[in-house]
Amino acid sequence: MIQSALGSSPLEENLRILTDAIGGRVTGTPAADRAAEWAVAAFRQAGIEEVHTESFKIPFGWSEGATHLEVLSPVPFVVHLVSIGWSPATPRGGITANLVDVGVGDDAGFAKAGDSVKGAIALVHTTLLNTWDDLSNEYTLHPVILDRAIKAGAVAVFWMSTRPSLLLYRHNLSINGELERLPQAILAREDAERFARFLQSGQTVRVHLDMPNRITGPAESKNVVAQIRGREKPDDFVLLGAHLDSWELGTGALDDGCAVAMLIDAARVIHQTGTLPRRSIRFVLFTGEEQGMLGSAAYARAHRDEMDYMVAAVIYDNGNGPITGYELAGRKDVAAAVRDALLPAASLGVKDFTLDGAGDTDNFDFMLQGIPTLVAIQDPANYMLNYHAASDTFDKVDIPELKRHVAIAAITAFALADRLERIGPRQSRAEIEQLLKDTGLEQGMHDDGFWPLWVSGERGRLP
Ligand SMILES: [Zn+2]
Repeated sequence: MIQSALGSSPLEENLRILTDAIGGRVTGTPAADRAAEWAVAAFRQAGIEEVHTESFKIPFGWSEGATHLEVLSPVPFVVHLVSIGWSPATPRGGITANLVDVGVGDDAGFAKAGDSVKGAIALVHTTLLNTWDDLSNEYTLHPVILDRAIKAGAVAVFWMSTRPSLLLYRHNLSINGELERLPQAILAREDAERFARFLQSGQTVRVHLDMPNRITGPAESKNVVAQIRGREKPDDFVLLGAHLDSWELGTGALDDGCAVAMLIDAARVIHQTGTLPRRSIRFVLFTGEEQGMLGSAAYARAHRDEMDYMVAAVIYDNGNGPITGYELAGRKDVAAAVRDALLPAASLGVKDFTLDGAGDTDNFDFMLQGIPTLVAIQDPANYMLNYHAASDTFDKVDIPELKRHVAIAAITAFALADRLERIGPRQSRAEIEQLLKDTGLEQGMHDDGFWPLWVSGERGRLP
């Protein structure tokens, strides 16, 4: 399998088509549908016969309109900005308002700004994104900052870009496919700093914001599923997943196109061995990940009756840096079995097995179903600078590195599916609750608003 993965393959051409020819593929858009059609054909090309799509609904379709900011005072200049994803549009005719600096958006920042936030646009300072911790902090902090802005009566929020050199990116804070609670935009770091200096020197900054985002009702989206059927226990399956959807300022190469091309090629590599694993392997390309892991949630719901047969969910969603191991999201009980099963991947650098779990990618709903999950741990490499940004394009992907990932994914899938015993049992709801406490994920779910969805049974194993 290693030889086949590292040798000549359709990997690079597949990634080129997905990123350059199909391009950015936001959930619910025609580009995402084209990507699903292409992925079905690519799996067939890889030799896999059992391939199909599974549709689900997201609550709202969304696309950006002609976002524009005019600086009315103190001096006009061109401001580079984009709407965040799933932001409501500004009212017809736009918003004319003062800009108010709320520092980093903490209580002190809002206290200092005081009543001036009411009816104004809040400008929030950020630090540059450099590490995985910076990234998870952003997702934890920003919803809380947004709460403060709403409470203070802001009409919109401007986030300073966390990237240098006018680089812009797009994502959303809302969960479960809902619309954002307030119009929000990301401003080029340099433009936001210029505004901050005007305000610091005591000048009034007054702007006119037009953000005519197009929002539709429920939209359909498709996951792509390909299966290699097991020889002994075909109902049991290991799921390997990556997300097919992306943001569209760039073309979603690092996030998560490279892993999509990688999984399709891992299927080819396994198929070409001519050997069937004991249990089945399902390769699932999810959509809706960027709006709150909606595709994997839909998959877990639709396949609820099969969850007892699911051995593990293995997810790749951390860019193109070397894979050094897997996060096991709190499953102490499976660590020894996983380490043992994946010894054949140790020579490729897969040695690190941690109990961490971030709850921010497609393993989440399977973990909430009690399934053991593995998320690839990767060096950040060039991920942070290009994260969800206009610069997330084909040229950022190191193809020889991606070929090593193909070998790792193929070995991981085969080893887990072929093992004599499952790596571990499915957990009961009580055991899952304990795991959420142990991993600190429970607090995270309270902060980002996920907790009520777990309590109601909308997400995760039924009470
Ligand atoms: Zn991703």
